[in-house]
Amino acid sequence: MFADKDISKFNNIETPFYYYDTDLLQKTLQTCATAAAPFQFHIHYALKANFNQVLLQQIKDIGFGADCVSSGEVRRAVEVGFDHKKIVFAGVGKSDKEINEALDLDIFCFNVESVQELEVLNELASKKQKTAQVAIRINPNVDAHTHHNITTGLDENKFGVNSWDLPECAEMLKSCPNLKFIGIHFHIGSQITNLDVYKNLCVRVNEFAKWFEDKGFTLQILNVGGGLGIDYHNPDHQIPDFESYFKIFHEFLEVKAHQEVHFELGRALVGQSASLITRALYIKKGKKKNFVVLDAGMTELMRPALYQAYHKIENLTQTKKLETNASFVKYDIVGPICESTDCFGKEVEQPESFRGDVFAIRSAGAYGEVMASKYNLRDAIRFVYSNEV
Ligand SMILES: *Cc1c(COP(=O)(O)O)cnc(C)c1O
Repeated sequence: MFADKDISKFNNIETPFYYYDTDLLQKTLQTCATAAAPFQFHIHYALKANFNQVLLQQIKDIGFGADCVSSGEVRRAVEVGFDHKKIVFAGVGKSDKEINEALDLDIFCFNVESVQELEVLNELASKKQKTAQVAIRINPNVDAHTHHNITTGLDENKFGVNSWDLPECAEMLKSCPNLKFIGIHFHIGSQITNLDVYKNLCVRVNEFAKWFEDKGFTLQILNVGGGLGIDYHNPDHQIPDFESYFKIFHEFLEVKAHQEVHFELGRALVGQSASLITRALYIKKGKKKNFVVLDAGMTELMRPALYQAYHKIENLTQTKKLETNASFVKYDIVGPICESTDCFGKEVEQPESFRGDVFAIRSAGAYGEVMASKYNLRDAIRFVYSNEV
């Protein structure tokens, strides 16, 4: 548990801040790399989960590529030193400016999400007398069995090319001299904890790969995206089961000798390696409810307000004090922002809490710092790295 750590070092640090456990990140990256190695799977880290430069440096050093969803992320990846031949660029709405920038940076592959985007990319590449490598992002209509706001691979979702548009897509690819078609790409959602979902994905990938190869195309890349979930309820059970995850693809994906399998993992790599550290400003005792008002809110960690996400919350000060015989109270744990959704948890059992207590909101490494906003003209988010305190 987080409270086992020496929190006295936090006493003089202004809250709220993200606390990054760089050792845990290193272990997680190493475990993932080791699990992928026997199958020669290629990992691209999805920058949108967390583009903090210190973390990116560590991820780059392990040898992973970068999966970007804006030219800003492509630029960041290049700045940090990711090999441009290991950068892929997805996104349903790439602007001309973004495409041009990525062409200039000679990225490995554009993951294209519509027939019209192929046409535009071909035109922009031809103006630069370049050839852009493309993979088609296909919407495979596979249910990820995750929260509906983070499902991306169903017919009703905006992402990717739908199966009924593939014939048109194939025609377009044949008529675009400045595109080199290298593979197919999928990403069906995030925080996927039921690994059977990936078996269903493999079946669909095999079908689509066969469809293209029957049409005479050669697929060099099968990119199955990311989405592997983490255990938010047990943040101390910290490293995701990469071995079982990769084994499913090894077993169920039909990979030809000339093909590479690519993954785009975000959350699973960085999610457990940060906590949001915050202090209780006020304790409010109501008739029906008790509130802990923290100095962190949805402006620092938006996931609970955005998609009712669960994060484990620990009162570090009291857990340390009361070992046994603790008296527990149910609190709504809220932030200071002027929105009723600015709530990290309702009816959360905690030791009796007091003004000044330090809290950790766990598993905040993915989609945390990167979603911080200035709403209410809040201070910029601060962060602290475990190897620096
Ligand atoms: C967000 C995203 C990912 C990473 O998703 P995680 O759930 O964080 O693993 C991978 N690929 C694409 C195209 C994405 O948009």
